[in-house]
Amino acid sequence: MSHTTIGILGGGQLGRMLALAGYPLGLRFRFLDPAADAPAGQLAAHDHGGYADPAQLDAFARSVDLVSYEFENVPVAAARHLAERVPVYPPPQALAVAQDRLAEKTFFNSLGAATPPFASVDSRAELEAAIERIGLPAVLKTRRLGYDGKGQLVLRAPADTDTAWAALGGTALILEGFVPFRRELSIIAARGRDGQIACYPLAENHHRDGILRLSLAPAPGLSPMLQAAAEQIAQRALEALGYVGVLAIELFELEPAGQSQVDTHDARFSAHNALLLVNEMAPRVHNSGHWTIEGAETSQFEQHLRAVLGLPLGSPATRGHAAMVNLIGSWPEPAAVLAVPGAHLHLYGKLARPGRKVGHITLRADSAAQLHERLAMLP
Ligand code: AMP
Repeated sequence: MSHTTIGILGGGQLGRMLALAGYPLGLRFRFLDPAADAPAGQLAAHDHGGYADPAQLDAFARSVDLVSYEFENVPVAAARHLAERVPVYPPPQALAVAQDRLAEKTFFNSLGAATPPFASVDSRAELEAAIERIGLPAVLKTRRLGYDGKGQLVLRAPADTDTAWAALGGTALILEGFVPFRRELSIIAARGRDGQIACYPLAENHHRDGILRLSLAPAPGLSPMLQAAAEQIAQRALEALGYVGVLAIELFELEPAGQSQVDTHDARFSAHNALLLVNEMAPRVHNSGHWTIEGAETSQFEQHLRAVLGLPLGSPATRGHAAMVNLIGSWPEPAAVLAVPGAHLHLYGKLARPGRKVGHITLRADSAAQLHERLAMLP
């Protein structure tokens, strides 16, 4: 174990935090990322290559003991190429599903998990037909390469169709019914090589301009039934994919009265599943799980490493209540953050730039009330 080298495709902050969690376990890391200034490169060996060059991938495979990834747009072909040479976790098939919103929603429906109503859109005529079937408002999204709300538009009235088609037409699209959700939640789950599964409590997520700003964990008012319903979805997805590692699933929680708008009737699911719609999954550690570094017994980063290495999974139990505040574009004076009781600062070594995630703050507290007091004290 002591000299195991983990190869990670992608060298962003998620890779950097994986390395920070792995050093106490005696692990070494090597990152493959085309960006010269990849934040993980400040901590570990960094190959500056692209993912499409087989010679580069072969050299990478020779220099590591196993491969994982920290962003989901790694070409599936690159992951499969590596998997012929070295163990790759999570399985490349999970990447394939997560990279295509149509495949992803079809996958969750096949498990009996509800999603917003959706339709594939490859032409203007299909867009008209999809609007006819799903109704308005609706969200038109590119099937691939969307993130942080990019590559998507909300259609509120028939007159929006022209603008939306002008902006996004020409690529493979999906139209989704606009869900009047009560709130956005996510579940971070892990599956080990032996099939053991561990799930963290649901987090409640708040976005602005399509970017995650704040996660609260456990989600305020989380009931055991809602948690069980989310865990059931996660367990089915993990098992269906033969998944190894950490998986994040983003969910919409409906108002109880909103259930009737969505067809969620599936005898295999309890009534509480009808309150949860799957939005998307990320086959990796996830921003809405950063609170686990200080807020849980085992962080999502350590958990991912335990899983891919075939080690026992750690406890996902919380240590009190946690909030994760993303630092977008710039960061406050560290002293002002650290003066707040229970605050922990994580800066990613990135240059400040508008809209860029440059760090996060975790706040920990003994109660939900204390957490909100402390949140109000942050600069
Ligand atoms: P996504 O890239 O699919 O995660 O979408 C980014 C954000 O847009 C989500 O976090 C939601 O706030 C919102 N959103 C996405 N899809 C829908 C939908 N079908 N109905 C309502 N809001 C949505």
